[in-house]
Formats: sequence, C-alpha cells, structure tokens
Amino acid sequence: MNGSVGPMRVLVTGGSGLVGRAIERVVKEEGGGREGETWIFLSSKDANLMSAEETRAVFQKHRPTHVIHLAAMVGGLFRNMRQNLDFWRNNVHINDNVLQAAHEFGVVKVVSCLSTCIFPDKTTYPIDETMVNTHTHRHIHTHTYTCTHTHTTYFQQYGQRYTAVIPTNVFGPHDNYNIEDGHVLPGLIHKTYLAKKEGKPLQVWGSGRALRQFIYSLDLARLFLWVLREYDEVEPIILSVGEEDELSIKFAADAVVEALGFEGEVIYDTSKADGQFKKTANNAKLRKYLPDFKFTPFRAAIKETCDWFVANYDSARK
Ligand code: NDP
Repeated sequence: MNGSVGPMRVLVTGGSGLVGRAIERVVKEEGGGREGETWIFLSSKDANLMSAEETRAVFQKHRPTHVIHLAAMVGGLFRNMRQNLDFWRNNVHINDNVLQAAHEFGVVKVVSCLSTCIFPDKTTYPIDETMVNTHTHRHIHTHTYTCTHTHTTYFQQYGQRYTAVIPTNVFGPHDNYNIEDGHVLPGLIHKTYLAKKEGKPLQVWGSGRALRQFIYSLDLARLFLWVLREYDEVEPIILSVGEEDELSIKFAADAVVEALGFEGEVIYDTSKADGQFKKTANNAKLRKYLPDFKFTPFRAAIKETCDWFVANYDSARK
C-alpha cells in the first residue's frame, strides 16, 4: 500500500543506529531500494526529534511520503533500570513529534518500532500482537503503550495508516557495544573481545539461563521493507524468529566465544540480574504473511557481527 502518487520519499529517523544502518545496507547494497525512490537516513545531528520545531523543520526540508521511525533512546536492561524516567519522557516526546509532523505533512505511511519490553513480566507465553492492547497494558512500559495507542488514534481520527513493528532482541553491525549500557549480545561480544585481548576470564552477567529470541539486524531490515511496502494493517506485527529458536544466554555466549576464538574461562556472575526469564514472542502472524522467509542462522549472523566488530573496533560505538 504505497498509496502515494509518484515514487516514495522515505525518511528514516534513527538512520544512524543499529536498525537504521541495516536498512540502509539492504536498500543501497542489496537492491532493496527501487528506481525513482529517495531514501533519507537521519541521525540526531540532522534534527533533535525531542524538539517539535526541529522535527517539523526536517519534515519540511525532506517532504517524505513515507517514514520509518526508529529514533529512540535505546539501552539494555541495566541502563533501563537506572534511567527509566528519562527513557520514558524522551521517547514520548520523540514519538509524539514524529507522528504529529508526519500527520501535518501528509505522510502516507509511518512504520514505527516498538519493543517486546512492552510486555509485562507476569504474562502468559507466547506473546502475540493482540496482547499489546489488553488490560495488562497498565503494567506495560508506558511509552510503548502510548505509542501503540497513538497509532490507533491517528487511524480512528484521521484514517491514517500508521503502523508499528515489534522486533525481539536485535543484533548486528553498528550496534551499541557499550558494556554497561548496551543490550546483552553486543555487551557480550565486547567483553569477550577484551577478555581475549587481556588474557582474562570472561564474566557473563546473570545465570546464563534466561531465554531470548534474537533477530539479526539485516533480517529485520528486509522485513521492514516488506512492512513498508506490503503490510496493510494498523495493528502492530511481531518480527521475530519462531518460538523454537528461543535461545539461552549461555547458548548465545558460547556462539560469541566460538566466533571470536576465545579460549579462556567463562564465569557466570549470578549476583547480576537475569532480567525477565523469558519473553517468548509468537511470530505466527508474520509466518501467515511470509511462510517462506528465511532467517540467517544464528551462528552465521553472530560470526558476521563479531567479524564486523573486530574490523571496526576503533570506530564502533562503545
Ligand atoms: P540505536 O541506539 O542503534 O539508534 C538510535 C537512533 O536514534 C540513532 O540513529 C540516534 O541518532 C537516534 N536518536 C536518538 N535520540 C535522538 C534524538 N533525540 N533525535 C534524533 N535522533 C535520535 O537503536 P536501534 O537501532 O537499536 O533501535 C531502533 C528502534 O528499534 C528503537 O525504537 C528501539 O526501541 C527499537 N528496538 C530495538 C531493539 C534492539 O534490540 N536494539 C529491540 C526492539 C526494538 P545518533 O546516532 O545521532 O545518536
């Protein structure tokens, strides 16, 4: 449902981040972009989207027909626990400014990005899309609830098809490899890299037993293009590998250790939090639309990511 007259002008907010860079690669290097289309990848240097004025100015400048909205204050479990209020407030401002500017400038379609952190700890598994709007939302990460609700409201009030995707844990090149503030996989990759370099044991935070579904940023990027071009619902869609591909942190750590060729001792520090034990997401809706989509095998994706990190160590975000 491109819906617009003429070729798409796609504005990607958060275009310099993990997911944004993967979309850029798929569009520019894998033939994901089509002739006549314009793709604009924004970073915070182009506009601070916490400011309504700067947001409007950047929409005025580029006049997009479509928006992929990725910009957000992002961080792993430990940063989230420390700075919950900041996260919430900043992301509320960013989402409100982007959706309002998209509305004002007549953007045909917006695809935003939510997170499975929105689902409450005490829920039934697997999670599916219908649970975003259940009564449990009072316990949900409020920012995302607000965001989902806002999409539906734009549809109800203006008929605009603003939708959202919900990826599980994303990893890949250009991630934030900061050990304190990043997500579990990039943190593990960086720690393993340092442990190898310094000849020290690798300390993994938590018991290693928590379970997660990981999606490679390049796979997510390919799915994003499909959502932008084909997915016609306002309701969000979970973009994830299947339940059968849920892995323990220990399994993931083993894959990183193997990819980086680390031969030292691996210690699980159980004094550190595991986070939710599992957050199993159901990808049946995605599979209904795309039964044949092939996810990159986990170990191959980890290998590519580790190789990228080693090759780009000096410039990587960390
Ligand atoms: P990154 O942290 O890699 O990138 C964040 C992006 O947002 C960067 O481009 C950054 O710009 C931009 N940004 C941050 N603050 C502002 C601001 N005030 N104004 C303008 N731009 C800003 O994030 P990811 O790519 O990992 O995540 C993208 C989206 O996906 C987010 O909405 C996130 O919540 C969601 N998501 C991510 C998951 C994950 O595991 N990573 C899982 C599920 C959902 P700059 O580079 O200039 O700082």
